[in-house]
Amino acid sequence: MTPALPPGSTIGIIGGGQLGRMSAVAASRLGYHVHILSASTPAPAAETAAKLTVGSYDDPAVLEAFARECDVITFEFENISAAGLRQLEALRPVHPAGRILEISQDRIAEKTTLSAMGLPVASWRSVQNEDDLATLKDFGFPLILKTTRFGYDGKGQFRVSDETAFQQLWNDRQNLPYPLVAEKKIDFARELSVMVARNHHGDIRCFDPSENRHRDGILRMSMVPAPVAPETIDEAQRIASCLAKDIGLVGILGVELFQNADGQLIINEIAPRPHNSGHWTQNACIIDQFEMHIRAVAGLPLPSTRRHSDGFMHNLIGPDDMALVPAMMEEDNAALHLYGKAEARPGRKMGHINRIFPRGGLPGEHALAQLQPVH
Ligand code: ADP
Ligand code: MG
Repeated sequence: MTPALPPGSTIGIIGGGQLGRMSAVAASRLGYHVHILSASTPAPAAETAAKLTVGSYDDPAVLEAFARECDVITFEFENISAAGLRQLEALRPVHPAGRILEISQDRIAEKTTLSAMGLPVASWRSVQNEDDLATLKDFGFPLILKTTRFGYDGKGQFRVSDETAFQQLWNDRQNLPYPLVAEKKIDFARELSVMVARNHHGDIRCFDPSENRHRDGILRMSMVPAPVAPETIDEAQRIASCLAKDIGLVGILGVELFQNADGQLIINEIAPRPHNSGHWTQNACIIDQFEMHIRAVAGLPLPSTRRHSDGFMHNLIGPDDMALVPAMMEEDNAALHLYGKAEARPGRKMGHINRIFPRGGLPGEHALAQLQPVH
């Protein structure tokens, strides 16, 4: 059994974005040094880490030199190649394991694995080519076609509402980025997510589920508590715990869920890393998702995920939201987290704000609408 990583050890994080930045802060609070591997600069994570390597995630020489300087390796960036993961794992412990990252990289592998575990996913079909595309007429509409790999923030998705929309897609069938996966469109009542952490002792901790709202495929806001029945909270955490155990997770993993009109939960996708919808934990829990992740990766105990406050997390996206930052600074119960990105391009996640209230003191829907920076 791996012993706890002593303070002064080096944790390597692959990826230079904001998730790496906030993970590095948590790691340094626990006395670790952080070494970031980023493919490009400027890297938000470099500013909070002891060391930065700039190099390709798929260059064996870069990976070897990086791994040799780390005691344990994790990642905040999901698209590391299978070969790269195997090379890293031969040199140092990698948490979560490369095989878990590989499952989450491919929507077909992800759905196949979740279904085999008896966990609920939307009905789906693999669409490898035009012949598979032709069969979608029997599958039924509305549906969503997604690229199997590299999708994020709603990119790489085609919504097919009816036969007419399908006909348009069919006319363009030679240009589609196969392989794709077709999913039944879920008429969901809400979207939820749960962050689950597990260490190598098999201890599992789930944070409370949040309700998440998206705009243009990008997360705008998360809210805790989610306005759902206690049984739904239990069920969301049960699903996340089963998954963490069955997949052999060491680290943290986000589970995105739909709650349909009947109240049932369906897994949308999983991400074996800290997740944007878990940022509320920074100010509503004693130990946040980033520290929980680092603790799990470092073989430390996982303390309580108890939520001491209610709250909203709002993403600050692009120049419009950044213009609101000075006013947000004046708010009494708002904690601002900026990622140090120089240029506020439209659609770019620049930071987030956690608005925190005493438990039971969450403003209602009307007040919520007023609180949202842009909607
Ligand atoms: P990404 O990797 O871009 O986050 P997702 O699969 O999470 O991709 O899709 C982004 C968003 O699109 C979801 O948060 C949800 O709002 C919507 N969506 C995705 N799949 C479905 C579906 N099967 N039914 C209804 N809405 C969906
Ligand atoms: Mg998603």
